[in-house]
Parts: sequence; C-alpha cells; structure tokens
Amino acid sequence: MSLMNNKKGVIMGVANERSIAWGIAKELANQGAELTFAYQNEGFKKRLIPLMESIQSTKCFECDASQYNDQPNSIESLFKEISYYWDEIDFVVHALAFSDKEELKGKYINCSRENFRNSLDISAFSFTRTAKAAFPLMSNKGGSLLTLSYIGAERTTPNYNVMGVAKAALEASIKYLAMDLGKNNIRVNGISAGPMKTLAGSAISGARHVFRHSENIAPLKFNPELKEIGGSALYLLSDLSSGVTGNIHHVDGGLHTVAIPKPNDINE
Ligand code: NAD
Repeated sequence: MSLMNNKKGVIMGVANERSIAWGIAKELANQGAELTFAYQNEGFKKRLIPLMESIQSTKCFECDASQYNDQPNSIESLFKEISYYWDEIDFVVHALAFSDKEELKGKYINCSRENFRNSLDISAFSFTRTAKAAFPLMSNKGGSLLTLSYIGAERTTPNYNVMGVAKAALEASIKYLAMDLGKNNIRVNGISAGPMKTLAGSAISGARHVFRHSENIAPLKFNPELKEIGGSALYLLSDLSSGVTGNIHHVDGGLHTVAIPKPNDINE
C-alpha cells in the first residue's frame, strides 16, 4: 500500500536538492503522490526541472510571495492557475522564508522597519495567504497544509533575530488557521526542524556553530537530515495523521527538550 496514492499536492520552496521542500517531495513521490511545484523565479526553475524529472513530475509554476493578489506570479494567482490544472488538491507544503542577510547577524534590536515588514510578510503572512488561496481546492473533501518552523520561534538562538519573530507569528498562524479550517476537514500543521545545511540555513551568521552545538546537545546526538523531515511530513500530509491539527511537530533530534546541556556536551 502507498500512503499517498490518489493524492495531489503543491510543493512551494524547492531551491535545490538540499532544500527541505525537496526532501519532503521525494518522500511523498515515493508513496505515490502526484506533485506540482512553485518556484520563486527563473533562476530557481533551472535547478528545479531536473529534480522534477527524477520523480516524473511535469508541472511547475512561478510564484513570488512578495507579489500580492492581482500582481503577476502572486500566491493568489498561483492557486488560480492550479485550479485550471486540477479540480482539487489534497495538500500544500509551504517551505519558504526570507530576511535580509545583513540583519541575520548582530542584535535583533537593530532590526529595520522595512526588513521587519518583509520578513514577516514573506515568512509568515505568506502561509495565511496560501491557506486562503488553496481553500477552494480543498474545501470539498478536506486536506492538509504544512509549513516549516524553527526553535528560534520559541527561544533565542544566535543571529536568528527577526526570523525568530517571524517564525513565532507563523506558529501562531498555524493554530488560528487550524481553527478556521477544521470544520472543512482541512488540517494545518508545522514541522519545527533542527538546523540543516541549506541555502536559507547558511544565510544565518554563525550557522556552523549552531549546527555543531545542536548535534552535541540534542538527545539523539544528530541534526535531522532530509529523510527525517520527509518522513514526518509524510505522516502529517497523509491520512495517518487524520486527527492531528494545529500542531508544531519538532523534528530536531529532541533539541527542543534541552534547557541546560550536560557539561560534557558543550565542548565543540
Ligand atoms: P532553501 O533555501 O532550500 O529554501 C528556501 C526557499 O524559500 C527557496 O526555495 C526560496 O526560493 C524560497 N523563497 C524565499 N523568498 C521567497 C519569495 N519571496 N517567494 C517565493 N519563495 C521564496 O532553505 P530551507 O532550509 O529548505 O528552507 C525551507 C523552510 O524551512 C524555510 O521556511 C526555513 O525557514 C525552514 N527551516 C529551515 C531550517 C534550516 O536549518 N535550514 C530549520 C528550520 C526551518
């Protein structure tokens, strides 16, 4: 039996083969899901196409989360275009975030108004817009929406700064969207992933320190890899999790449970 047979969904946020979105897409495709992809711009499309070919996926759309409503390639127009292609969808994976790299270092207190707005708009509000735009394609038979968060939403981590504030807004959005959409059997969940070596991950200053420190102190003694995130996403997007919504599921080797690391674990 394949868990995702006869299920169709949209994957947003593949930049390359190390992207969390790609790790999730591969697991879903292995279980029989039919996938379509949204890429940020032409540059990302070039890298996406060969990946799509490797899983026999043929359809992708340009979508820039900074575009709104009737602007070209907005999230709203993405789902309108998808509705010409598919009558219904079963799931959406939202795996995108943005902040000015220059502000992912130093102190949060120095965050500019412009970057605060952009970071929250693209990294948090885009998920609410995705839910609203996907709703007409899911409202008949229900579905599952999934986004990606990080421990920096709950507690401070070095240089995460305004992204932590954006992820906190994203995590609160998950709960409100779960309440709004529950009566339509649309489930809304997040995965809080441990640190991973991706394009977005490397934009955060001092990423190497965070990566090593996390694997030292996490109970499982490793940072998750794509297959760990993909496996948990498969659960949250399949019928296995039919009773689960409004949940932030940590896939971080247990890192979030540690308040004070053992002294021997702190040496790097
Ligand atoms: P990634 O760089 O592979 O993916 C980030 C994606 O965001 C890219 O595909 C990029 O095109 C997209 N994006 C950025 N701005 C956009 C815009 N305006 N419109 C449309 N798309 C846009 O990195 P990743 O680590 O796979 O990131 C995926 C998600 O996982 C993000 O939400 C990130 O915050 C989250 N996350 C990452 C880590 C980590 O350590 N890498 C840990 C926890 C959560």
